[in-house]
Amino acid sequence: MIHTINKQFTRILLLFTVLLSLSACSVDLTDVTSVLEEVGSQSTESITSTTTTGSTGELSTNKGILEVHFIDIGQGDAIYIKTSAGDDILVDSGDRGKDDVLFDYLSKIGVQEIDSVISTHPDADHLSNLSYVIQKFPVKNVYAPKVQHDTQVFENFLLAVQEKGLTIQSAKAGVEIPLQDTNIKAKFLAPVKEYGKDLNNWSAVLSLEYGETTYLLTGDAEFEAEEDMLASGMLPNEVDVLKVSHHGSEGASSREFLQRIHAKYAILSVGEDNRYDHPRQETLDRLSEVGSVIYRTDKQGSIVVATDGDNIQFQTER
Ligand SMILES: [Zn+2]
Repeated sequence: MIHTINKQFTRILLLFTVLLSLSACSVDLTDVTSVLEEVGSQSTESITSTTTTGSTGELSTNKGILEVHFIDIGQGDAIYIKTSAGDDILVDSGDRGKDDVLFDYLSKIGVQEIDSVISTHPDADHLSNLSYVIQKFPVKNVYAPKVQHDTQVFENFLLAVQEKGLTIQSAKAGVEIPLQDTNIKAKFLAPVKEYGKDLNNWSAVLSLEYGETTYLLTGDAEFEAEEDMLASGMLPNEVDVLKVSHHGSEGASSREFLQRIHAKYAILSVGEDNRYDHPRQETLDRLSEVGSVIYRTDKQGSIVVATDGDNIQFQTER
């Protein structure tokens, strides 16, 4: 048994090293034309039976719309980002057994290929279905922090990347994701440093800026990573939409962090009656202290946040 585990670990180590080191010399962002004709014209209306539950004003019809879909994947994260210029980004993919839920959702909104797939960290409730996504959809870029995990889920992810002839680009503070929509900036603010075996703190944290609006997707980053982000000086002073870290765990979303970013809206990606008792009351209280309006996938289903760079509109499944 121990022998088998060691063999698997060695295999993962080798594969990860090869796939990650290759990426340093393989920046291939050409052939963007085919992306232009895909889901650019889809709108949030295409998601059936949604309700508009919040809005800071009507969205302009003259400006491009940035959509961020917080997919109800149960306990875990799966976030899909779309720009009107045709950029498609998937951040995480939910836990084991949710591949159908994810595939159905992406198909329903017309996703045909994905420019960038991001694994925030290798925990199963985020990574499990990325191998499936990479197999099912044409994918151009894969980003992940430079940390590995000795699990079948992680090995499957590496194998899918290898089978598709892709490499893994290192997700870390300061790395920007090139977008066709040059009005939108997508940039990693974390990991700021290395965190040993502490997978949550390794989380790749992505900020999205469009016009006057800012989104922050924090993976499962905990207090230590939040402190490092605060110290790095890269955090925005005002965040409109925050994907609350670690499903509202008590060990994330510190008062200092929340007071710094002043999130107007806070989204919790969390499973109904989950065994971790997420989100924790103390985290909800800290969010309320800074005045964040809370949305939850366990209560409202999938949540789509659309912005024209000025106004923001929310649509929820229920
Ligand atoms: Zn998680």
